[in-house]
Amino acid sequence: MSGFTGGVLVPLFYLISAVLFILGLKGLTKVRTAQRGNGLAALAMLLAIVTTLLEMGLVDYRWIVAGLVVGGLIGAVAALRVEMTAMPEMVALFNGFGGGASALVALSVLWLEVVETGHAGAAAAVLGPESGITVGLSILVGGVTFSGSLVAYLKLAGRIGGSPVLLPGRHLVNTALLLASAIGVVGLAFAAGAGAGVALALTAVSLALGVLIVIPIGGADMPVVISFLNSLSGIAAAMTGFVLASNVLIISGALVGASGMILTLIMCSAMNRSLANVFFAGFGQEAAASGSGEYVGVTSCGPEEAAMVLEAAGSVIIVPGYGLAVAQAQHTVRDLAGLLEKQGVRVTYAIHPVAGRMPGHMNVLLAEADVPYEQLVEMDRINPEFENTDAVIVVGANDVVNPAAETDPGSAIAGMPILQVYKAGTVFVIKRSLSPGFAGIKNELFERDNTMMVFGDAKKVLQEIVAELKELVKAA
Ligand code: NDP
Repeated sequence: MSGFTGGVLVPLFYLISAVLFILGLKGLTKVRTAQRGNGLAALAMLLAIVTTLLEMGLVDYRWIVAGLVVGGLIGAVAALRVEMTAMPEMVALFNGFGGGASALVALSVLWLEVVETGHAGAAAAVLGPESGITVGLSILVGGVTFSGSLVAYLKLAGRIGGSPVLLPGRHLVNTALLLASAIGVVGLAFAAGAGAGVALALTAVSLALGVLIVIPIGGADMPVVISFLNSLSGIAAAMTGFVLASNVLIISGALVGASGMILTLIMCSAMNRSLANVFFAGFGQEAAASGSGEYVGVTSCGPEEAAMVLEAAGSVIIVPGYGLAVAQAQHTVRDLAGLLEKQGVRVTYAIHPVAGRMPGHMNVLLAEADVPYEQLVEMDRINPEFENTDAVIVVGANDVVNPAAETDPGSAIAGMPILQVYKAGTVFVIKRSLSPGFAGIKNELFERDNTMMVFGDAKKVLQEIVAELKELVKAA
């Protein structure tokens, strides 16, 4: 403790920072308060960092300023340059760095207290059981988070194949590595003779485990994995909080760990899949192998026909999906909605919890195009509306509107809650072809009598519909 504290100020500032973290998280639960929540969390982080620096007093500030400048620059450039579609991989990368940082802090504590003091082979004796366990767990969880997140990043960025890689005997190898790492952690805490060597071996095993756990998982399941790894990075940070005896790190790490786990479970239940199914089933591989199936009786139309039906409609629901993000058509979709509203059409957007490739993907995209958030309606609230809706425009969505989830118990997505667009008067599906979505299966919506496919890139098709609609309005 430095002279600055006077005893109570440091814990008080940490307490304020922890409360601000909690208020920030609460703010993030609603669109209306999200920006303020983000600001509060950033303030909490600033307060925690400044308090830590003042508390430590003797720190060489030149290194800290250098770190701040370099890290800040990298962060700013990354945030400015990232495309909305590349958001999940950026989150994966930064998550991984969080886990890596926790592992490095634990390793450096071990080095400073055990190796540098000349007791390289006696971690348990120097650290004691509590610190030994937390140092070991920080290395293990941080290492798994780091390498697992890097694999997730590489898959999402298309640097390595996105399909599941199912290595033979992987369950056995993973179990053996898990067992070895458990022995390493317990060794650091209790075994005489365990020290730097065990810590390094534990680091290597945890890095291998991260790779082997994530590599069998398909690219589109990566958001679930990222959310899970995010939760792990929080747990690793909390462990490091115990190592450093830092209450604020324990609290903020626990918050990240718990919220990440809740999000992971929400995503799994929105897909009607268990976390074990995401991690161990190699989802998407079998379905992709069986192809998209033959389509019969598919009807398609052009933008002018779509525009005519839409102009005559009293209510329209827009259903965005992953293709909207790929085409970056969020601004055009908003233009279309604005035009329809001017004609007295009631327009809303139906948001499926796992539409796109990350939680909240559609909300973020549409918010970027200034779509009023009151118009975004969640699945449970919008489903009863479809039967009274004249027209639905499905833009680049596929699995989340596939009725097979309700009608075919043998389907890969059987039981997944879907947006029941098939109940609407007319359904326009804008996509480039009849290719399947992430689940790799045929979509029977495309064969329904009330469905019209409008083939093409989402942005281009929407622009054409907007142009046709303008013509119709002018002519009226
Ligand atoms: P899908 O992956 O099911 O379908 C997206 C569709 O977009 C494709 O069929 C593709 O068809 C079309 N598309 C791609 N590019 C364009 C373009 N430029 N213009 C027009 N259309 C385009 O997406 P959904 O959003 O419906 O479903 C999400 C899937 O991802 C679900 O299976 C979900 O379980 C899964 N998932 C989502 C997670 C999340 O957090 N959101 C997490 C894990 C999984 P075509 O090639 O013919 O154009």
